[in-house]
Amino acid sequence: MTAGTEGAGGLFRTTFAAEPAGFWRAPGRVNLIGEHTDYNDGFVLPFAIDRATTIALAPRDDGRIRLVSTFGGALVESDLDAVDRRDFGGWSAYPLGVAWAIGERHPGAARRGFDVAVDSDVPVGAGLSSSAAIEMAVAVALDDVWGIGLDRAELARIGQRAENIAVGAPTGIMDQSASVFGERDAAVFLDCRSLAVEQVPLGFDAAGLVLLVVDTKVEHQHATGGYRDRREACERGAEAMGVPALRDLTVDDLPRARALLDDVTYRRVKHVVTEDARVLESVAALKAGDLVRFGELMDASHASMRDDFEISVPQLDAVVEAAQAAGALGARMTGGGFGGCAIALLPADEADALAADVVQVFADRGWHEPVPFTVLPSEGARAL
Ligand code: ADP
Ligand code: MG
Repeated sequence: MTAGTEGAGGLFRTTFAAEPAGFWRAPGRVNLIGEHTDYNDGFVLPFAIDRATTIALAPRDDGRIRLVSTFGGALVESDLDAVDRRDFGGWSAYPLGVAWAIGERHPGAARRGFDVAVDSDVPVGAGLSSSAAIEMAVAVALDDVWGIGLDRAELARIGQRAENIAVGAPTGIMDQSASVFGERDAAVFLDCRSLAVEQVPLGFDAAGLVLLVVDTKVEHQHATGGYRDRREACERGAEAMGVPALRDLTVDDLPRARALLDDVTYRRVKHVVTEDARVLESVAALKAGDLVRFGELMDASHASMRDDFEISVPQLDAVVEAAQAAGALGARMTGGGFGGCAIALLPADEADALAADVVQVFADRGWHEPVPFTVLPSEGARAL
């Protein structure tokens, strides 16, 4: 799926009338299981997808920075001094934020200006983290041309810092971790407290399975308020239960939580606690090659988000129901909720039929046409 270097290279040459020093690429991601667990110090299991952001970049001898993207818009010009004053705006906040965060975390780094052209086939704003893809592509490129030698965990932290401070989005580190630690046919198991990472073989290929993603095209209308509200409920729950984070509770604590908490807070807590348990069980099932059990855990995760965490919407439920009726091993909404994508794990030769089914269901209900596509677990950020 991932395109070659023509897009970024062509744009670089026409914009800067020069050859880039090289090409770097970083993928988007999909989260297999573990939703709203990240900010509760819990567990997530995303994988890097075969859709990526490719950049062509050349370092400069001065401090100027020029950025352009096939995504649209005019050439953006800045320089390292402006970046260090945190003068960011628009889409360039992502790459400029990375340049800033490297300087912040590594004050000794010999930074220079650069010219960069960006091209991507990660759909923007669909919940597949085009933002982490651009951050990690720029981070691996600047690490190379500035000769720093950052490790993967540090690259991920720099991307998160850029997104938190330069962009102003209070996101966790899952997306960047998936984008840098991804491997072919493997998922990235991340402990959001220790930041320990382990690649877990998926074996989808050998089992003849694919992951179908359906972008429902439902805008995350309540996403900001809904996200804040769920975070607050989780913090309230942890405080009332006397633990630093919901990660510190297990399913054995749920009866006490039910007695102590109001109904809504209890159900929010229950989702997070059971979701953490599902991620751990998923890792065990995948290691044992038990994809049927993994599928059941996907289904249970969706039910928990629909009924207890209440972040699904009818379109997401409809995709999951169609997938289950079509014999998928498992299906669930993925991402923060209130719209975005659903995923289904099913035999490769049934993906087209399910995609057609879903399009028909949406048409019958008068909903916006969804966009179904398959993704493959792919390798992480790298130089080309
Ligand atoms: P998501 O990460 O789910 O795709 P975000 O809102 O987090 O959505 O990030 C999308 C933003 O990232 C875009 O609005 C744009 O500012 C920036 N971005 C992503 N990809 C590109 C690209 N190829 N070129 C320029 N900006 C991009
Ligand atoms: Mg994003």
